[in-house]
Amino acid sequence: MSGIIIVGAGQAGASLATKLRMLGYDGAITMIGEEPAPPYQRPPLSKGYLLGDMRLERLCLRSVAFWEEQKVTLRLGAPVTALDRIAKSVRVGSEIIPYGKLALTTGSRPRRLPAASGGELDGVYTVRTIADVDAMAPEFQKGRRLLIVGGGYVGLEVAAVSANFGLQVTLIEMAPRILQRVASPATSDYVRKLHTNHGVKILENTGLDRLTGNGRVSGAILSDGVEIAVDFVVAGVGITPTVLLAEEAGLDIENGIRTDDFGQTSDSSIWAAGDCASFPYKGARIRLESVGNAIDQAEVVAENMLGASKSYEAKAWFWSDQYDVKLQIAGLSSGYDHVVTRGDGDAVSFWYYAGDKLLAIDAINDARAYMVGKRLIEMGKSPDPVVIVNPAADIRMLLKS
Ligand SMILES: Cc1cc2nc3c(=O)[nH]c(=O)nc-3n(C[C@H](O)[C@H](O)[C@H](O)COP(=O)(O)OP(=O)(O)OC[C@H]3O[C@@H](n4cnc5c(N)ncnc54)[C@H](O)[C@@H]3O)c2cc1C
Repeated sequence: MSGIIIVGAGQAGASLATKLRMLGYDGAITMIGEEPAPPYQRPPLSKGYLLGDMRLERLCLRSVAFWEEQKVTLRLGAPVTALDRIAKSVRVGSEIIPYGKLALTTGSRPRRLPAASGGELDGVYTVRTIADVDAMAPEFQKGRRLLIVGGGYVGLEVAAVSANFGLQVTLIEMAPRILQRVASPATSDYVRKLHTNHGVKILENTGLDRLTGNGRVSGAILSDGVEIAVDFVVAGVGITPTVLLAEEAGLDIENGIRTDDFGQTSDSSIWAAGDCASFPYKGARIRLESVGNAIDQAEVVAENMLGASKSYEAKAWFWSDQYDVKLQIAGLSSGYDHVVTRGDGDAVSFWYYAGDKLLAIDAINDARAYMVGKRLIEMGKSPDPVVIVNPAADIRMLLKS
């Protein structure tokens, strides 16, 4: 056995390596990452770090000294370019490194605007890495005009930071409403109003026809034919799981690297976790793009790499910070047929039901509702909506009943 190699030094890779050591694994661990930085957290990239409020060191999940103490060898700044499953080795540059077991935590990559739509003009950015945000930093000068393409969480968080900074922000969303893929109309309404009140112009049902400019972006023609002048553009149009290495090595791919309940791929020596991995979930197959999933799944995979045979039970949770509003989400709302609202004004929560069954909650500035809703979903309990809507009800009692 030649030790464990982890490909991808991000959130999931860091959790996996740490958990292996916590479980007492004392063999060699090598974590290989194509980015130059040691594993870091991405959420601040569209929040504090983008605003310039957070120093680079604070992004890192652990210090370099920690990885040294843990005897985790970090190989940073160069990707694994090939995986040989027969020889059980990976290639980095000209070097071939053997493994006993391998974990793929290769994350995902942002979708880019097509070159034919001007996506390769200077001044067009995505937000996935430190390098992306650092490259964008000089664009942040008060009064400049920013176009954000895509009304998902990343686009909206960039809009909030940019409006706070004093940029003139227009956000276009081709779907009928922002957050349509992940949230109810009630949450979309709340978030839209929040942005509009901060001066962001939100155009729904509006796609991008193309960006214009000579070398550098200077304008955008929208799907309704309207042309606007822009100084720079951020595309927040989703991500695709990073599967090329796995695919070229012949692993099964199905909306990400296909894993079983234990995080094992179609090769019994190779596991996958985080954004890049799809896994069985309640009779279907899903992939989650969140810090919570990256941590939890990677920890279960670490246990299973050491022989535990433990199923991964995903507990979906997510958060988003926009202005001074904290949105916390638990559960998966897909398949809901009605939404029950608790509270109004600043602290409000939306509870997603399918029939009598509670599926998910979006809590806005209401940590208690989030905590209770999350626990109820994990316990498989579905509270009576009459209690939820009653502002006088102490919903913590629902956990005891
Ligand atoms: C701007 C932004 C804001 C976010 N906000 C939130 C939030 O508020 N809440 C939340 O829950 N989630 C948030 N997320 C999502 C969350 O950050 C991701 O789900 C999480 O980082 C996934 O972890 P991962 O380890 O799977 O992937 P990553 O953290 O992306 O790590 C994968 C690493 O693998 C490397 N890699 C890929 N291929 C290779 C290769 N062949 N060789 C070597 N290295 C390779 C990549 O370069 C990358 O460094 C946000 C993401 C972004 C981009």
